[in-house]
Amino acid sequence: MTNNLDDADVAGKRVLLRADLNVPMQGGAVSDTTRLERLVPTIKELSDKGAKVIVLSHFDRPKGKVVDAMSLRPIATALGEVLGRHVAFAADCIGPVAEAAVAKLHNGDVLVLENTRFHAGEETNDAGFSKELAKLGDIYVNDAFSAAHRAHASTEGVAKHMPAFAGRLMQAELHALEKALGHPARPVAAIVAGSKVSTKLDLLSNLVAKVDILVIGGAMANTFLAAQGYSVGKSLQEANLHDTAREILKTAAVKGCEIILPLDVVVSETFAEHPPTQVVKIDAIPANMMALDVGPATVAAFIQRLPEIKTIIWNGPLGAFETKPFDASTNALADAISAATKAGKIISVGGGGDTVSALKLAGVQHDLTYLSSAGGAFLEWMEGKILPGVVALSQDFSNIG
Ligand code: ADP
Ligand code: MG
Repeated sequence: MTNNLDDADVAGKRVLLRADLNVPMQGGAVSDTTRLERLVPTIKELSDKGAKVIVLSHFDRPKGKVVDAMSLRPIATALGEVLGRHVAFAADCIGPVAEAAVAKLHNGDVLVLENTRFHAGEETNDAGFSKELAKLGDIYVNDAFSAAHRAHASTEGVAKHMPAFAGRLMQAELHALEKALGHPARPVAAIVAGSKVSTKLDLLSNLVAKVDILVIGGAMANTFLAAQGYSVGKSLQEANLHDTAREILKTAAVKGCEIILPLDVVVSETFAEHPPTQVVKIDAIPANMMALDVGPATVAAFIQRLPEIKTIIWNGPLGAFETKPFDASTNALADAISAATKAGKIISVGGGGDTVSALKLAGVQHDLTYLSSAGGAFLEWMEGKILPGVVALSQDFSNIG
C-alpha cells in the first residue's frame, strides 16, 4: 500500500514535493497549463495545512548541465498564476542557494527549485545528490506519476531519507489504474492500437494474461492480419514480427483471452487529407493501397459488445487519426465509450501520448473515468512493470530518524 497525505502530519514541516513541471512551452511561455492545474489540489492542501512546500521537478533533457533555456523559472511563475498564490524560485535545487531559499520560507509558502536534471546525479540516482536534496526537507511527497517509471534521485533516491507519501494526483492515478487492471470489474477489455507491434510487445504479452477481451486496431492490426495470411497491400506493418504476432494469438487462446481483430478497413492509395477512400473486407485489401483506419463494421461489432463489458483500458488510436477521415473509427468508439461511462455502465481508463491527443480531438477527454497523461509511466504500468517511484512510497518509515 502506498502512503498518502491522509497519513502525513505536514504542519510546520518542510515538504519536498516531486511534481511534473515538464509542461509544453512555446516562445518561452507555458502553452498548456493542464499539468500545473492538476497539481493545485496537492499544493493547496499542503500549504493550507501549514507546510513549507518545496517543489522539485525535471524539465526536458539538459543531461546534467545548466541549460538556460531549460530553466524552471518561467514555469514557477506560471504555477503561481494557476495557483493564485506567490511562488518563490531558487536558481539551484541543492547547495547554498537552495538552502538559503528554504530557510526563508514561512509555513504555507511555496518554493520551486531549479531543474533537477541540471545535476548529473539526478538521472544516475547518485546517493550523494539524493542526500543533498534530502537536507532540504523533512517529508517527501510525490505527485509525479509520469516520472515514476524512472529511478532517479528526485523520484526514488531521496525517498529513502524521509517519510514518503503519494500526493493527491499520484493517489488518484494509482487508484484509477488499480481499478482498471489490478482488481477490475470483469469482463475487462483492452483496446491496443497505434502504429507498431514492436513498441507494444510487453504490453500485449501482459494484457493477454490479464484481460478477457483484447481488441487490436491501428497499423498494429495489419501485422496481425498479415501474420494470419491476409494480404495487406501497402499498409504499414512489421513483416519481421509475424511469428511474434502468431505467438501472441496462441498465448491468448491458452489464457482464455478473446482477440478481436478488424473485419474491415478503410483503404486509400495515398496518405493525405481527404483522399479517395474505400471500405473493404480484410480479405480484399487491394495490393496498391494502405489500410489507414479500421472499418465501420469493425467499430460497430465492438460497440455491440460494450454492454457485456465492465472495464475498458484503451491505448492507441484505431487509425491514422491525425489525417482525416482516418480518425472516424477512433471518434466513433470514443463516443460510444464516453456514453457508456457517463451512463455508469463501464469504468474506462485511457492513456498514451497519441491516445490522449486523439481523445482530445474526439472531444471526450473529460468523459472517461480516467485519462492518464503519464505517457511512458502509464505504458510501463500496463506492461506489468514495477515503477520505482511508486515502490518508494510504500516504505515502512517508522525507523527513519
Ligand atoms: P500512443 O502514443 O497513444 O501509445 P502510438 O504511438 O502507439 O500511440 O500510435 C499512434 C500512431 O499510430 C498515430 O500516429 C497514428 O497515426 C498511427 N496509426 C494508427 N493506425 C494507423 C494505420 N492504420 N496506418 C498508419 N498509422 C497508423
Ligand atoms: Mg505515440
